[in-house]
Amino acid sequence: MSDYRIGTKCVQSGYTPGNGEPRQIPIVQSTTFKYATSADMGKLFDLEAAGYFYTRLQNPTNDYVAAKICDMEGGTAAMLTSSGQAASFFSVFNLANCGDHVIASSTIYGGTYNLFAVTMKKMGIEFTFVDPDCSVEELNAAFQPNTKVVFGETIANPALVVLDIRKFADAAHAHGVPLIIDNTFATPVNCRPFEFGADIVVHSTTKYMDGHGAGVGGCIVDHGVFDWMAHKDKFPGLTTPDDSYHGITYAEKFGLGGAFITKCTAQLMRDFGSIQSPQNAFLLNLGLESLHVRMQKHCENGLAVAKFLSQHEKVESVSYPGLEGDKYYEIAKKEMPNGTCGVVSFRIKGGRKAAEEFMKHMKLGAIETHVADARTCCLHPASATHRQMNDDELVACGVYPNLIRYSCGLEDAEDLIADIAQALDQV
Ligand code: PLP
Repeated sequence: MSDYRIGTKCVQSGYTPGNGEPRQIPIVQSTTFKYATSADMGKLFDLEAAGYFYTRLQNPTNDYVAAKICDMEGGTAAMLTSSGQAASFFSVFNLANCGDHVIASSTIYGGTYNLFAVTMKKMGIEFTFVDPDCSVEELNAAFQPNTKVVFGETIANPALVVLDIRKFADAAHAHGVPLIIDNTFATPVNCRPFEFGADIVVHSTTKYMDGHGAGVGGCIVDHGVFDWMAHKDKFPGLTTPDDSYHGITYAEKFGLGGAFITKCTAQLMRDFGSIQSPQNAFLLNLGLESLHVRMQKHCENGLAVAKFLSQHEKVESVSYPGLEGDKYYEIAKKEMPNGTCGVVSFRIKGGRKAAEEFMKHMKLGAIETHVADARTCCLHPASATHRQMNDDELVACGVYPNLIRYSCGLEDAEDLIADIAQALDQV
């Protein structure tokens, strides 16, 4: 399937039915799988044979969908998780443990920031957050002897900062560690981070991939290129025997292409059990089948709304990487030549009060913490996700009191613009 274009992969990759088998991906709604002999099952436990024994670790429906996303990203192995948060956690924890250090872009999604800065810190992992626009010298200065991985987001939520993936990948590789990219907002339709040097990609499939607000989920994809054995001492979890799997050394037994995801499944999914339900994986696949068509429309709407807002007298500023003149326009053109995403951030003149007033008058744009949905949704972070912060704190983290995050759905752009216009008129 790998030679097909991205739209064909969205529709066809991952599952090829045999003669007389269901055309649609079967939902294997079963926790367990039956074997004729204990010896047959023992081979699965020893990772000597591939197969299924318990859905907490793996399920065929999930694997069909993971294989599709793997092909879309251009990877060698992938796994689904119960949420995007689980994908981010697993991807980092598969490499960094107590006493290790991780570098992350400071503009990553707030939930990921909290996962790293608060929860994983309690596990003894230290994080350094760097400005995504930092110089190469500043980036290099953040590395420590115990740094195990670098983490960033293609398009940051909600700052809409576009990461220079190549800059981060080169710095990571120069220090013998891989780069993980959260590609949720761009999706593999608009950006394939492996082409710019990333080693592992994670997704919140809850967003555009599902696209209909139907199921929470996540995915991890490995490019299969990072050479763990060449940095043997840094990654003992992959390069030395795993006592909990009869002394298997993942990097030796599963090679570049399979070691990372096999370890993540065999250890982390086994022990934490953050599996996506097969029913949700089925719904996710329905979303993936139209992702390439929907992303085009989300981007068209995003650009139309951003253009309208940028010319409106009541709007102070607009952030949209697809808009000419945006700070990230050039890097977005390089990494995402066919479009970025449907999310636009803007600041209304008149401060917090004006933003609150605007929100009251939206008719099509529903007030939600969600983004990247078929239905347009919007959020005033200062009254919702960031309401515990005072105005000075908000300014310090770039989420201004008058900032609105507007996620363009699949409606007609003219109707979205008319809705925004009437709401602005009433401010
Ligand atoms: N990554 C990004 C960029 C997100 O926007 C989100 C959620 O909004 C997540 C990760 C976390 O995903 P989930 O909500 O599926 O756990």
